[in-house]
Amino acid sequence: MDGTLTESVQQVIRHYWGFDTLRPLQAEAIRAGVEHRDSLVVMPTGGGKSLCYQVPPLLERRTDIVVSPLISLMKDQVDGLQACGYPAEALHSGVDAPQQRRIEASVAAGEYRLVFVSPERLLSPSFMALMEHLDIRAFAIDEAHCISQWGHDFRPEYRKLATLKQRFPRASVHAYTATATGQVRDDIVEQLGLSDPNVLIGVFDRPNLVYRVLPRTDGAAQVLAVLDRHRSEAAIVYCITRKETEATATRLASNGIKAAAYHAGLDADQRRRTQDAFAEERIDVVAATVAFGMGIDRSNVRCVIHAAMPKSIEHYQQETGRAGRDGLEAECVAFYSAADVLKWQWLFERRAENADADEGDMDAHAGVVAAQVDLLRKMQRYCRALRCRHRALSEYFGQEYRQPNCGACDVCLGEVEGLVDATVESRKILSCVARVGQRFGIGHVVDVLAGADTERVRGLGHDQLSTAGILRDVPRKHLTTMVYELIDQGLLERTTGDRPVITLNDASWEVLRGLRQVRLPRRDVKRARRTTFDRESWEGVDRDLFERLREVRRDIARLRQVPAYVIFSDATLRDLARQRPTTIEELADIYGIGKQKQTDLGPRVIEEIARFTGGECRECS
Ligand code: ADP
Ligand code: ZN
Repeated sequence: MDGTLTESVQQVIRHYWGFDTLRPLQAEAIRAGVEHRDSLVVMPTGGGKSLCYQVPPLLERRTDIVVSPLISLMKDQVDGLQACGYPAEALHSGVDAPQQRRIEASVAAGEYRLVFVSPERLLSPSFMALMEHLDIRAFAIDEAHCISQWGHDFRPEYRKLATLKQRFPRASVHAYTATATGQVRDDIVEQLGLSDPNVLIGVFDRPNLVYRVLPRTDGAAQVLAVLDRHRSEAAIVYCITRKETEATATRLASNGIKAAAYHAGLDADQRRRTQDAFAEERIDVVAATVAFGMGIDRSNVRCVIHAAMPKSIEHYQQETGRAGRDGLEAECVAFYSAADVLKWQWLFERRAENADADEGDMDAHAGVVAAQVDLLRKMQRYCRALRCRHRALSEYFGQEYRQPNCGACDVCLGEVEGLVDATVESRKILSCVARVGQRFGIGHVVDVLAGADTERVRGLGHDQLSTAGILRDVPRKHLTTMVYELIDQGLLERTTGDRPVITLNDASWEVLRGLRQVRLPRRDVKRARRTTFDRESWEGVDRDLFERLREVRRDIARLRQVPAYVIFSDATLRDLARQRPTTIEELADIYGIGKQKQTDLGPRVIEEIARFTGGECRECS
């Protein structure tokens, strides 16, 4: 960027957002916006895409259009911008007719720098006429992967955006997405008809996220143990089924955690209420299916837990990406078990069967299931591999990772105790499978091994087997986990269908004949270590003051009916609790406080800090 442009960008980001520097690629993306060169900007969630289309219209004093797929996304962004004194509005189906007329009049008068619209609204004849009148020069397409059917979130209405370039030949089009695959990127460029676009691809690694992947032994207790490290902080717990989200939310609530369930089966009202409560920090934890995601912009999510294995690395990356969007440290813990793989497979097949009944396209659906199973296997491999998580993820998304030790994953932090020899126990398990004739499911085999005194065991005479009760010293949950781990490692087979039974394969026989050792993972969640990142970002922060300021933020947010992070991000609160400014002027040096917030929220903040530190408020006296 040349000198004058750099200078005016600096001025603008300082004034509106209280930022000092641009993040990687933001400068290039802003330049494309200023110079009207089409662009495709690919950055991971939290990378800072929005700033790239928010800055150019300020510099050029023009009105730009942002196309966004969800009302909640638009609303949150507009709330956030307005809190910074940035002139922006949104037009969507949630805006009533009189309000719409008012907004349209202001749009026509050129009062806004950004107008957010849904694709349907954008292409309506009246809005088209308005845009032609204003001679719109730039369009930003947010979540641009929605235009591609290869993406994980295809929206047919996005297809219509293909006409933009023809209808507004003088305008540039800028596409933004977090989707990493080449196929989707190419599709976006083609569908939108971008001409010689500047393609900017960011680094996908998120150094502020700590990844931990653990075998599930006692799911509920493990989830609680992780959340215990994040008391009264925001967390999301992802589950596979709707029922599990509800059970999890109930269990968390009974442990004194402010939690709610969220899934596609709830009505829109209920979902909105939960989203709002989460955004306004009235609840800390949401137990959700994948449905909870887009539209959740709370930037201070400190923890994302996968109570069960996600169905693909793409989903995992996206869902963990919701943690630490404010750039501060956050923890992502995934629990997995071979049971999850089987459950997903079963769900894929059932879904495909239902679709077949509707459409009768057997081949296509067999193909879809095969592709899903392939992604599932890759996810499973990621979980089981004992290699750096940051490296594994970067490489999966086609990017090199150069650090020998990331310092932010269970493997590099030395928490994985490695594999311990479990050959003896494994032989006992396998031999029990043989004794019951390879005709029973996991529950029954575990019953026999544990010496359970049940009618079924007695009735079948299985209490008389040489393997009955042979592992009675091992806790049941542990035994079940070991069976799943053996399946995971290909040392046992489990049939599919309604009543799956476990059977032996060649590898099992090698173990039984003493030709093969078995090593199973032993890991410990409780010993999670603090990362350097964690220590540094809390450096010098008065934690009590931080908590006090969080309450203040919550009060202001409630009063103004906006999400809490719109008022201040966690990074801002920490900086306040670190520097403890005593005058409004000093607020100018605080991260994330621009001119508007300085005058608008400054007095309240200074007063609170003064009260907290027991000093005189120099602004009041
Ligand atoms: P994305 O849309 O790529 O997911 P956002 O635009 O929401 O990411 O930005 C994520 C967070 O980073 C927001 O809290 C935003 O305020 C912050 N951010 C963006 N750019 C900068 C910057 N240059 N300096 C500091 N913080 C930034
Ligand atoms: Zn690592």
